[in-house]
Formats: sequence, C-alpha cells, structure tokens
Amino acid sequence: MSHEHIPVTPELFNYIRSVSLRETAELRRLREETAQLPEVAMQTMAEQCQLMALLAGAIGARRTIEVGVFTGYSALWTALALPEDGYILACDISDKWTSIGRRYWREAGVEHKIDLRLAPAVETLDAALAGGFQGSFDFAYIDADKASYENYYERVLALLRPRGLILVDNVLWSGKVVDATVTDADTVALRVFNSKLAADNRVDLSMLPIGDGLTIACKH
Ligand code: CA
Repeated sequence: MSHEHIPVTPELFNYIRSVSLRETAELRRLREETAQLPEVAMQTMAEQCQLMALLAGAIGARRTIEVGVFTGYSALWTALALPEDGYILACDISDKWTSIGRRYWREAGVEHKIDLRLAPAVETLDAALAGGFQGSFDFAYIDADKASYENYYERVLALLRPRGLILVDNVLWSGKVVDATVTDADTVALRVFNSKLAADNRVDLSMLPIGDGLTIACKH
C-alpha cells in the first residue's frame, strides 16, 4: 500500500486530529468562530496549517508572506511558529474577515508580528520589491484568488531567499483539475499554474493531497 495514498475515511480523519492536532486555545476559538461563517470553506484545514507552521519553524523562518488572509487562522499558526521579532507581510482586501483574525492575533500575543496590508496583493508585493526586499523572506503561503496565482508566485519567488519555501493552497481544487468538463476561469488557471510549476526548474517541488491540495516549492 505504500506506493499510493491511503484513503482518508471520516474515522481516520478524526483519528489524525485526535492524535496530532496541537491547537492553542486561541487557534481553536478562531477556528470555531470561522466555522459559523458561510465562507468557512475558505479557511485552511487545521492539520495543514500545523504542517505549514512546522515547516516555517523547521527552516528557522523569521520573515514570511501570506497572500490571502481570510479570518487569519493560518496567519496565527505561522505567527506562533516565528520568533518574537518575526514578521508576516499579510495581504488581503477584506477588512471584515481580517478584523476577526486581528482579535485573536491580539489575544494570542502575536499581533505585533503581523503587518496586515488591506490592498490588492500584487500592489503590496510590488511595493515590497520596489522597496528592495528581494531575497529577504524565508517562507510564503499563497491562498487567494486562483486566477492571480501566477502573478503572486512570480513576485513571491523574487522576494524569497534561496532555499525559502512557497506553499500554495487549493491546487487540486476539489478534484476539478482532472475533470475535463470543468472549464471555468479558476480551474483553468490552476491547471496552467500546476503545469507551469511542474516544469519550473527554479524550484524543488512536492504536491500533497492534504486539504484541497498543497504544493510546496523550495527556491534554488
Ligand atoms: Ca484555501
């Protein structure tokens, strides 16, 4: 069985959660508050966030980028993994959703690490590039509008240091990437993006079927 993925039944999912998830009280309450929103599917799965926080910690990340914040759950995980002087350049356009996250960032004592920019992410990333911050970030998480993934990826790649990590969410898009009858703009953009990364020799690559699909790219 080790040459293919094990099917994750609801029982197995609950088991994984029971023996591995290590949420703080603030993380759990933020996840539970987000679960009340109609847009809850936009929140990154807890176990995936824990993996990302582990990776950020493992590479000793101090400066990270988050493209797409929503209610700030993944940003809170990352902030907790960063040192006290860590920095997250957090990009989103919604004050309504990110203001939920701000409350929990404050309660968890990490608000000072998160520089939330309410503007189109391309503008924020271009400003960072224009400000001379190429090669100065260690880690990035891209989870925003899918049609712009390529734009985000290129800018984030330039902002990352060598051996920095870019994590990209929703790369399997509920399986629609392999359903030829689905031709909407988001699905097509994700197919193009995935194919581009497969051939991108500027990075090492791994695609995981966790959550809605997670690609991990390590810059050369
Ligand atoms: Ca997502």
